[in-house]
Amino acid sequence: MTTRPCLILFGPPGSGKGTQAKLLRDKLGMAHISTGDMLRERVVLAKQEGSTDELGKAVAAIMQSGGLVSDELVNKMVEDRIEQPDAANGFILDGYPRTVAQAQLLDCVLKGKKIRTVVVYLKVDYNVIIARLSGRRQCPTCGALYSVSANSPVVSEVCDYDGSKLIVRDDDREEVVLQRLKAYESQTAPVLDCLKSAGYRIFDVQGDLRPPQVIAREIEESIQREFGTARA
Ligand code: ADP
Repeated sequence: MTTRPCLILFGPPGSGKGTQAKLLRDKLGMAHISTGDMLRERVVLAKQEGSTDELGKAVAAIMQSGGLVSDELVNKMVEDRIEQPDAANGFILDGYPRTVAQAQLLDCVLKGKKIRTVVVYLKVDYNVIIARLSGRRQCPTCGALYSVSANSPVVSEVCDYDGSKLIVRDDDREEVVLQRLKAYESQTAPVLDCLKSAGYRIFDVQGDLRPPQVIAREIEESIQREFGTARA
């Protein structure tokens, strides 16, 4: 029987799911599965000259508008990804499930495979989210995230880890951010109730006002309480 754990990081765009997932993956030895990162990788390939990946091109347009990619595509991507060898000791879901249909599929998969699951809901004030997303920078090479105000790199606009020039993600432009928040409100917020009624334990964690390492520690403690000392 498989008893590998799954941590679902839930919260609005800009709530810090990606930052927390990166901190926790190393501490807990679990794979980090970000549907946003996986889709961005596909888009990069689809935009290359000579690419015939029409679906990848369609995904690019949807992401640039702040909308959500089809459940069918994302569900298939995640189902395949959790079977990869690096997820054998457990995995962290970042940005998935994002619709009720995704949550229903995931529920069947998790229960079918007897995967122990805990949900962490990162709660962040909307004004903080808008400020964070519009000031966000990302390293195109290693994916590290920075903020022009709170968590700025040592050298302005340059990644601390590999020296790459930082970029603004296409979908962090202000008008797109508002669309992403709308998509969250209408399609993603209902997922929390769906997970609750499916019986998953939800931990509410305040996602602003404290440094990321302190938030990660609180999440880690919640997971240890839920899963026992095995993950300590
Ligand atoms: P954020 O959580 O900050 O919005 P992500 O990197 O998770 O950023 O997602 C970026 C975009 O990728 C989303 O706006 C959406 O278009 C697409 N996307 C990511 N995950 C999903 C998903 N589970 N279902 C549908 N679309 C998704």
